[in-house]
Amino acid sequence: MWLRTSKILPAGEMKLRHFIIRSVLILLVGLVLCIPSELLSQQQWYKGNIHTHTTNSDGDSPPQAVVKWYMDNNYNFLVITDHNHLTPVAELDTSDTDDFLLIPGIEVTDSYRSTPVHVLAIGAHRDIQPKHGESVVETLRNNIDIIREAGSIPVIAHPRWRWAFGSEEMCQVTQCSLFEIFNPGCNYFSGGGAPGCKETWDEVLSRGVLMYGIGVDDMHNLSRGTGLSWIMVNTDTLSAESILSAIERGSFYATMGVLIESYTVSDTQIEVVISPTRYGKYTTEFIGYRGNVLKKDISLNPRYTFTGDEKYVRVCITDSNGKMAWLQPVPGKNFKQ
Ligand SMILES: [Zn+2]
Ligand SMILES: [Zn+2]
Repeated sequence: MWLRTSKILPAGEMKLRHFIIRSVLILLVGLVLCIPSELLSQQQWYKGNIHTHTTNSDGDSPPQAVVKWYMDNNYNFLVITDHNHLTPVAELDTSDTDDFLLIPGIEVTDSYRSTPVHVLAIGAHRDIQPKHGESVVETLRNNIDIIREAGSIPVIAHPRWRWAFGSEEMCQVTQCSLFEIFNPGCNYFSGGGAPGCKETWDEVLSRGVLMYGIGVDDMHNLSRGTGLSWIMVNTDTLSAESILSAIERGSFYATMGVLIESYTVSDTQIEVVISPTRYGKYTTEFIGYRGNVLKKDISLNPRYTFTGDEKYVRVCITDSNGKMAWLQPVPGKNFKQ
């Protein structure tokens, strides 16, 4: 278990002015109370999408228009991931403030026979072309390896799109702990007896493989495909290095619009504070081994007390309109067993 305390702040408050005022206040409180400043530093949440297409592959809009949409809609960062093409981002960063960041990326787009195998390379600084394999697992592994060799972070994209592959294949991957729990139209739910992304995540975790769930809109159509799902990253600085390392260590949650103020994990419990909309009603599920719901909580401050026997606990919040947020799993002491 680990301890994680974090607060979400509205986008308007992320301005530099507020940051400076708050930093000064924190410093003053620290001086008065003689508390080390690192214990007082409060982290922030940054909104971002890490899977986006432009006319450089099969998106319907040029990079400039895509970047403008995300900037205008209060995102803090965006990763452009055209298929097998590194779209340069330096000249696209026209923001005159420090609250929007562009990170280069590629969707390494491969297949084994007719099975699609797509892996995002986020933070890509050079071209990466697919490295085929002789099975779905080998194709996944080869592409993850070349993404790592290029110094970027791999994310398994839409594993259940066209029911391509699932927990069996994902559990045989070692260098990647990120996958898309939600990508619109990519079978989040099960159907016809086939597990969706939801069931796949629990199958992977139940086998003792730690994977964190990403939400994306995989934007191809600027008028219909934007803002459907994204991640909120908990870190202290809006820089590529800070955002990417926070994603890699699972310091984020995925959402379709449900927002939280804080997610605290201690040795004894999980506590969530939901940031409600005016008329929003929420149900929080604490989910464990094989997808069993360990507890349901309908409050705005859902909590779960560990029994000590959990293999893992993850949190899913659903609002009364069917929108969801997925918090990252907490492995128990017997997680690997
Ligand atoms: Zn794809
Ligand atoms: Zn895509």
